[in-house]
Amino acid sequence: MADYLISGGTGYVPEDGLTAQQLFASADGLTYNDFLILPGFIDFIADEVDLTSALTRKITLKTPLISSPMDTVTEADMAIAMAKFEQGFITDPVVLSPSHTVGDVLEAKIRHGFSGIPVTETGAMGSKLVGIVTSRDIDFLAEKDHTTLLSEVMTPRIELVVAPAGVTLKEANEILQRSKKGKLPIVNDRDELVAIIARTDLKKNRDYPLASKDSHKQLLCGAAVGTREDDKYRLDLLTQAGADVIVLDSSQGNSVYQIAMVHYIKQKYPHLQVIGGNVVTAAQAKNLIDAGVDGLRVGMGCGSICITQEVMACGRPQGTAVYKVAEYARRFGVPVIADGGIQTVGHVVKALALGASTVMMGSLLAATTEAPGEYFFSDGVRLKKYRGMGSLDAMEKSSSSQKRYFSEGDKVKIAQGVSGSVQDKGSIQKFVPYLIAGIQHGCQDIGARSLSVLRSMMYSGELKFEKRTMSAQIEGGVHGLHSYEKRLY
Ligand code: IMP
Repeated sequence: MADYLISGGTGYVPEDGLTAQQLFASADGLTYNDFLILPGFIDFIADEVDLTSALTRKITLKTPLISSPMDTVTEADMAIAMAKFEQGFITDPVVLSPSHTVGDVLEAKIRHGFSGIPVTETGAMGSKLVGIVTSRDIDFLAEKDHTTLLSEVMTPRIELVVAPAGVTLKEANEILQRSKKGKLPIVNDRDELVAIIARTDLKKNRDYPLASKDSHKQLLCGAAVGTREDDKYRLDLLTQAGADVIVLDSSQGNSVYQIAMVHYIKQKYPHLQVIGGNVVTAAQAKNLIDAGVDGLRVGMGCGSICITQEVMACGRPQGTAVYKVAEYARRFGVPVIADGGIQTVGHVVKALALGASTVMMGSLLAATTEAPGEYFFSDGVRLKKYRGMGSLDAMEKSSSSQKRYFSEGDKVKIAQGVSGSVQDKGSIQKFVPYLIAGIQHGCQDIGARSLSVLRSMMYSGELKFEKRTMSAQIEGGVHGLHSYEKRLY
């Protein structure tokens, strides 16, 4: 009876499916298509699924989606559009205490450009809310009144509309609309301030609900560099321009060049987050983690434009690569990006269920409005160009892509990618919300309320997988129809 579980009054439920550990125990490398996840129990709505996830040790994103550093995918338009997707809860607002003065409010206004400031007993978050001071409270005070204490001018707690901790953004939005106020403090059951929501932010959030910003409220942005001497100059320029994270862009990251570059960056810019890669084995990951990377990019040969496995004989099916590297890297608190080979939203869910914290997409985001390049028509179909950075096309145009593939200075260039085209997908303003909703529905079917729950279910063995035979894969796709139209959103 050891492998039978008791389930309430109706009897025994036999163990079913494989744990991730069992799934990847065999010598076969698995792709995302080679397995499925068995559904779990649903007791929440899909909209509630929290997709917050770590990009690096220190940077967390509201959605686990990243665009590839490729010249036909990500330039400024794509970076800005991708970054503008966040929640409206501000958990680190400027807070003052009743013994601060009107002068302090004015100073904060100059520095931070706003004036509705919550007042708590100690002047810090997590302390009892005692009021709010807004420009309406202080607008008509004379210069001499700048020393007036906030306790005398603030709108006291009793007159404030607040929302309880745990409120959803949608509910908070409705409360804020009804209250007609500029700010909505969120308090816990001890009346301590845990977050705040601003009307102006909500307006922005209506347009950009999931933007990822740094501590200065600037949109987050990463940039890729190579590992050669002149990349150090690019690195300086990128840090001056405010890049939050640097990706060391190499198809095989386990090299003396990359390790030396990690050491160099960590010494020169200790606070800059560095993502190393690409890797597909724990042994490769070990060297980069030892060198000090804050995140790892996983994938070799799985990209849609990639011919690395065909030409170099090296690589790994992406399901196995993600599981093996993530399972190793998590022991050191290093998050993993599943990079390449994502063809559907189901692949995103699978990558996350195998331990990846985020996914990086090239072809899926290519040919969106925000991707670089002009649309063109071929046989009546609207297309944009999409090419591998290791294609001859890209290498001939850019020396940085040659470095990614170690072919700078080579007499004969060896292509590791192809150049092609992808069909128009419209704007990512529509496509990314589709991806987000799709991931939430996948997590709901699994019974995971958040991505961290999803990962812990996988590592505990609660999450069950099953291998998919060829015929299972055919069964899982549309079949037996004379014709059909596939509209996804
Ligand atoms: P996709 O999402 O399947 O199109 O894969 C995109 C990923 O493929 C990128 O993020 C890179 O890691 C990788 N990649 C980009 N260019 C090349 C190439 O020329 N050869 C092999 N891999 C590439």
